[in-house]
This record gives sequence, structure tokens and C-alpha cells, in this order.
Amino acid sequence: MINQSKVRTKMPEQDPCVRTGNFDEVATGYTEEMAVREALRCLKCREHPCMTRGCPVHNNIPAFIEKITEGAFEEAYQILAETTSLPAVCGRVCPQYLQCEGNCVRGEKGRPVAIGALERFVADWHRKHAGSADEKAAEAAAVKSAGTMADAVNAVTEFMSGAEAAEHKDKRIAVIGSGPAGLTCAGELAKKGYSVTLFEKEEIAGGVLAYGIPKFRLPAEILEQELSNLKAVGVSFETGKTLGKDFTLNDLSNEGYRAVFIGNGAGKSLRLGVPGQELTGVVPAAAFLYDVNVKKEYPDAERIAVIGGGNVAMDACRAAVRCPAAKKVTVVYRRSVAEMPADPAELKEAEAEGVEFLYLTGPVEVIGQDGKVAGLKCQKMVLTEPDASGRRKPVPVQDSEFVLDVDCIIEAIGTQSDNACVDGVETTDRGLIVVDEETLATSKPGIYAGGDTVTGPKTVIAAMGAGRKAAAAIEAYLG
Ligand code: SF4
Ligand code: SF4
Repeated sequence: MINQSKVRTKMPEQDPCVRTGNFDEVATGYTEEMAVREALRCLKCREHPCMTRGCPVHNNIPAFIEKITEGAFEEAYQILAETTSLPAVCGRVCPQYLQCEGNCVRGEKGRPVAIGALERFVADWHRKHAGSADEKAAEAAAVKSAGTMADAVNAVTEFMSGAEAAEHKDKRIAVIGSGPAGLTCAGELAKKGYSVTLFEKEEIAGGVLAYGIPKFRLPAEILEQELSNLKAVGVSFETGKTLGKDFTLNDLSNEGYRAVFIGNGAGKSLRLGVPGQELTGVVPAAAFLYDVNVKKEYPDAERIAVIGGGNVAMDACRAAVRCPAAKKVTVVYRRSVAEMPADPAELKEAEAEGVEFLYLTGPVEVIGQDGKVAGLKCQKMVLTEPDASGRRKPVPVQDSEFVLDVDCIIEAIGTQSDNACVDGVETTDRGLIVVDEETLATSKPGIYAGGDTVTGPKTVIAAMGAGRKAAAAIEAYLG
């Protein structure tokens, strides 16, 4: 039986008037009945482009969705677990409209199947019903009648990965960076039985998932659960350790690590490049989101401008409206809404939460008073005809300057890699690590790299795809 509805099952969410007063997750998730109803919209296409063309980690989408229609939710989870280490994260933060759902056949004459929402449902169902990794470890250990946590971890490793685990325990692998690329690579290799240590420069693990994505999109407990699943399969975490400062690649080699994966992201913020950007109250989006997400520190500002039009700008403006002192939040973007790279759903959520958008507007100068931001001088822009690449360039409109009354400015115009710390590995003039496209091997034997540090800022799932690819190549390298 197929649900012929062109309309997909809407996920319940907090009312905009309520949610701007908290950092709780906006969308509250499908019930079992909703998930089955939505899963029945899947046509089980023979070609399944959602999976082959849309999903960078090639989740078996028709198979896991079919299990949902049967009410076999744990089996659906096990199908996902074959290809993704972070399904609860992907179901929430993947740009599905560009990937799996963007390739769904049902999208040709109506709305695509809500693949992300179904993936999230399955991962959450597993978390609630199958017990935590620690509980599973304890149960597995009890079955073994051994009673120690080491036995428990071994038991759950076998439980989760089969007999091949524990074969390679003598082969140590270092993973640098605990964002999506590093977590995926570490998880894949640990499940194969390698001894994996993950080095993270911050005191908390998770990379951009922990400090870049606001809690109303990815609650802390979801990430903690995914991290605890990785610990249960044997990944060790060394936080507060920075490559180039606390250790080098040569140190790792001397300590007996046989291979290294670098997934240290692209966390260096680009600045506006206008006079006054050094004033107190001008902050890069990454720093603002870190303060809000990790330290729970909010700017003491009533009128906040966010500069940029990508997904980080959407995260920043939506976090800004939730800051206790904020009264007005304005996004300033140089092009029009048609060129905006942000996920349209995120843009809609931001509008519903009262964020104001100034399109075709560019910053010219930050105006200060007593060393602090007192306004933002802007000018109107107009777009040229498309160039050879099809992109329309914004150019200033003469005599169109005006001052926006703001006391905080968040720069969300992009980030770049900072690989000065990576010794002896070839990088491009933009600081990106050079790799072999097929294997993600760098110019230094045994050192692999993937994710934003290689490509520049891309999506979480693209980084996960790279982590998975590198894990396979490292396994082949280690024989
Ligand atoms: Fe879609 Fe992302 Fe899940 Fe792949 S991992 S199926 S792209 S939500
Ligand atoms: Fe189902 Fe859409 Fe994938 Fe077809 S393309 S198998 S309808 S999810």
C-alpha cells in the first residue's frame, strides 16, 4: 500500500512565539503513526536516486523506510547503522533539500518523502527503546558474567560490529578533529577493531556539531548519545590537544600511530574588511555561536545585525533572537533572496521567528562610540547581468548609504582552513590540504585528510562521506 498524498506529514514544532524564548529543539519529532504514514509515501523506486545520487554516505533509504512501514523500527536503525555513524545528527542537520530529498522521485510531482525526518525518527526511537550504549555494554557484560567495564566494552563492540572487531587492536590510528569527518572516520575504524584515538583542540568533543550548530537544531543530548556510542565501540578521546601546539605529526609517528586522519575543519573566520571591524561588539559568527552554545554567554545587545546569507548566518540570526537582551535582529545580505545559499526551510524559520532581512545591502563601515559598535553604515546594491559562470555580481548604488542602528554585528561571511599547524603535508595557496581524490591520502605516507580542511566549508554529511572514504583507504593501507 502506498500513501498517494502529495503533501508530506508535517513534523510538530514549537510555536514561534514560544520558541524564541528558549533554546529547546524547535521540531519535536514524528510519532510512530506519523512516521509510518510518511514512510508509506515512498515508491520504493528501482533506481532509488535518493540513495545513489543524493546521499553522500549511500544510506539504504528505500530499505530503512520499508522497515518503518512494517513497524520494524529497530531493524530500520540497523540498516542505517551500516552506513552512518551519526543518524540522529544527519536526520536533523543534513541539507536534505540538496541531497536525498532533492533527488526523491516523489518531489517531481509534489513534496519529496521526508527522508531526514524519518532518519531522525528511527535514530531517536532506537535511543529511547534500545537503551544507551552504556546500558547495552552493561547488559552484554552481564551476559558474559565478567562484570568489568573493559569486558563490557569488548562485549558491546562484538555486539555492534561482529567478530572482525578486536582483530587489529595492535594498530593504532590517530584522528585529528572531532567534527563530522573525524567522528565518522574514527567510528568506522573502531568498529573494524582498530585502536583509534581522537584528538580535539577544544575541551569538548564534537567540533562544529558541538559549538557551531545551535541547540534548538541539535540538542546536546543527541550529540552526547552519538559520542557515547563511539566510546562504546572503543574510540578514545583526547580533548584540549592542538596539532602544532601540543603535538606534531612526527610525534604521533614516534608514539606508534600507524596512520593519521586529519579532519580539523575550516574554522578560521573571514572578516568583513571594512573600517571599524576592530570595535567591541563586532564578532565572527563562529565565536558568537561558541559562546551561546557552549558557554551560555549572550551579548548584552538589543539590536543585532548578522552579515551574510548562508546557513551559518541563519544559525546566528536565530540564536541572536533568543539572546535575552535582543529586541531586533536584522540580516544584511548583498544579493537578493534568489541568490541566498541558506536552506530555504531555515530562512522560513528565521522569518517566522521575527528576524528582519535587508537584501541587496552591503556593509560599508562600522560606526563606533567609546570603542564600541554604535551603528553600521550600509549601502544598497544592485546585481549585474550573470557572468560566464552564471553568477550575478552585487555592485553599489551611488548615494544610497544609510546607517543601521545596531549595537552588535555578527560576521557570517565564511570561514577558511588554517593548516599552518600541519607539518610536511602539501597544502594549496588557500591553506587547503592536497589529497588524492580516490583515497584522500596526503603527500605524506600514512597521513589522510578529508572534510572542510580539504574542500573548504561544505556540509556535515559531505564531511562524513569523506571520513568514511578515508577509513576505507586507511584500512587498505594498513593491510
Ligand atoms: Fe539524507 Fe543526510 Fe540521511 Fe543521507 S545522511 S539520507 S543525505 S539525511
Ligand atoms: Fe522512496 Fe523517494 Fe527514494 Fe523513490 S526516490 S525510493 S520515493 S525516497
